[in-house]
Amino acid sequence: MVGPPGAGKGTQAQILASELSIPKVSTGDIFRANVSGGTELGNQAKTYMDRGELVPDEVTNAMVRDRLAQDDAKAGFLLDGFPRNVAQAETLNKILGELDELLDVVLELRVDKEEVVKRLSGRRSCRNCGHVQHVDYDPPKTEGVCDSCGGELFQRDDDREETIRRRLEVYDEQTAPLVSFYDNEGLLVPIKATGPVEDVTARAMEALRSRT
Ligand code: AMP
Repeated sequence: MVGPPGAGKGTQAQILASELSIPKVSTGDIFRANVSGGTELGNQAKTYMDRGELVPDEVTNAMVRDRLAQDDAKAGFLLDGFPRNVAQAETLNKILGELDELLDVVLELRVDKEEVVKRLSGRRSCRNCGHVQHVDYDPPKTEGVCDSCGGELFQRDDDREETIRRRLEVYDEQTAPLVSFYDNEGLLVPIKATGPVEDVTARAMEALRSRT
């Protein structure tokens, strides 16, 4: 899946992966788990993440290579947040070649910039189960408390306004070129990513059905 931060990649990836019974491989989630766990990888990633910059390719690519080689990814997987630049996309092609696999489809989630800033600045994530809510669009029943598990809702450090702006710049400079990269490979399917979550899921499922 490609699309700017706040396009709903994580939300859709979660739903689609569960519908398709394949693992969701989210590089952002793996980095965050490592930051919380205080691992060496987490320490390496944190400074970049806090600034809204990309973690260096060698770190990210090695992590993805390991993840895709695990048994649960043999029958398919859904990538969320990777690749994030053309060099990563080229490495992904190599990794897939080694595993004798191919990408079926690249879903591009389309949403405009202003909407993205509104979504990200109001986004709150659960510290316990990872469920995502929004202060205006999906307000928790009790302020600061996750509707799903009762855990504490918090704002990701990189969802603060200055970092959001930098993440959007990084998207335009480094990630947006993937749209034409995958279009040239004949894999790209653009999807309107605004409106109810279920509608976006239905569009995504339709695109997947037509390509797999
Ligand atoms: P995300 O949850 O996908 O928005 O990712 C959060 C942060 O993790 C990004 O702003 C980057 O700092 C880092 N990150 C996630 N995926 C990648 C990637 N493929 N390459 C480099 N950095 C990444």
